[in-house]
Amino acid sequence: MELPFAESWRIKMVEPIKKSTREEREQWMKEADYNLFQLRSEQVYIDCLTDSGTGAMSDRQWAAVMMGDESYAGSSSFFHLKETINKITGFEYVIPTHQGRAAENVLFSHLVKAGSIVPGNSHFDTTKGHIESRKATALDCTIDEAKDTQLEIPFKGNVDPKKLETALAEHHENVPFIIVTITNNTAGGQPVSMQNLREVRAIADKYGKRVVLDSARFAENAYFIKTREEGYADKTIKEIALEMFSLADGMTMSAKKDGIVNMGGFIATRHEDWYEGAKRFCIPFEGYLTYGGMNGRDMEALAVGLDENTEFDNLETRIHQVEFLAGLLDEYGIPYQRPVGGHAIFVDASKVLTNVPKEEFPAQTLAIELYLEAGVRGCEIGYILADRDPVTRENRFGGLDLLRLCVARRVYTDNHMRVIAAALKNVFDRRDSITRGVKIVWEAELMRHFTVKLERLQ
Ligand SMILES: *Cc1c(COP(=O)(O)O)cnc(C)c1O
Repeated sequence: MELPFAESWRIKMVEPIKKSTREEREQWMKEADYNLFQLRSEQVYIDCLTDSGTGAMSDRQWAAVMMGDESYAGSSSFFHLKETINKITGFEYVIPTHQGRAAENVLFSHLVKAGSIVPGNSHFDTTKGHIESRKATALDCTIDEAKDTQLEIPFKGNVDPKKLETALAEHHENVPFIIVTITNNTAGGQPVSMQNLREVRAIADKYGKRVVLDSARFAENAYFIKTREEGYADKTIKEIALEMFSLADGMTMSAKKDGIVNMGGFIATRHEDWYEGAKRFCIPFEGYLTYGGMNGRDMEALAVGLDENTEFDNLETRIHQVEFLAGLLDEYGIPYQRPVGGHAIFVDASKVLTNVPKEEFPAQTLAIELYLEAGVRGCEIGYILADRDPVTRENRFGGLDLLRLCVARRVYTDNHMRVIAAALKNVFDRRDSITRGVKIVWEAELMRHFTVKLERLQ
């Protein structure tokens, strides 16, 4: 008999989690103004809010924590991190920052000006925020296929080369760089192919532009290239990662994802002028150059995390669990962005809560229903997250309205996946009776989803 699949690690330490009653959750949700970010973590049974900073570090990472060098300048931990990043990415210059958005803030302070146009594939919300707050435009050039959640193609995160070419032909004087997000978080954790990265490189070269990889999940992207793209099956994840980065000029990284640390990020680049430019902003915003926003111990843990998570077995275990959850949703007929991506399931709320009008935010409504059902916390990646158009101030209903269920790295077991799927099935089974959604009663101008206050409509 063939042996079943099993995790490539065993568990050395556990953290208790608590169930609650529906009555308690009704009360807590109301107190949180129907915003799941406003819940306290102990009010949550299984937390699928994000895969950011929620992963479990390995014994090797914890051991590395003890080796942290907390020197203000010239910390050996910085050099361990830098050497690891040099090896994995081929980028020579490294600036540590406290997380991914800080890397964006530092690098974009150097590169993005009022009137700049930054083309890319479904810019992440903080990326878009850091562009728009500088009175610049984030121009989405994702392939149209990414919007059809039921279409199965292997690299649904790709940039549309035609859209990119058109954007550059029209706006090239105002384009400081092109940004490619790997994997494409907003489109559903969907990968970008090596072929596509090559096409982007060719277009960039034609217009003399540079390419930044927003690399939060670069290792998961490499896993998909290995398992889906012709010619890569026999290459290691590290070889594939190096090839991906060879097609770019620099990267911003949220290490809270594929670095498997709880806090951290960095900028890396092959260009001295970008390094020199970004340096000027790192010091006032983040800190001195050999720690940026990080502790020495955290830089040590990140160096180990990057090395471990660019090994196939670790990635296979992770993606396998996400696929296990997706398989259960298939069994129950629940529609999600197909094929499942690397870090989360993105349930297509507009296909589930068909009776809730878009003005009443179906994905947010589904997130609330799932929490009330079983204490499972997901996250709206939809019309609330999309913010208002900076010019017209209208809600942006043009994109997808999804409920994202993130799977934390090395944290939950497949039994937890079964609970999530069953809870979602229970909501799905009574979907026709859900006819009203929510109304915004207070919102921030940018990145409103974190603090928005909502009221349930009856
Ligand atoms: C998380 C994320 C960021 C921002 O990183 P933080 O560490 O949360 O600041 C940027 N881009 C992508 C694609 C991300 O997933």
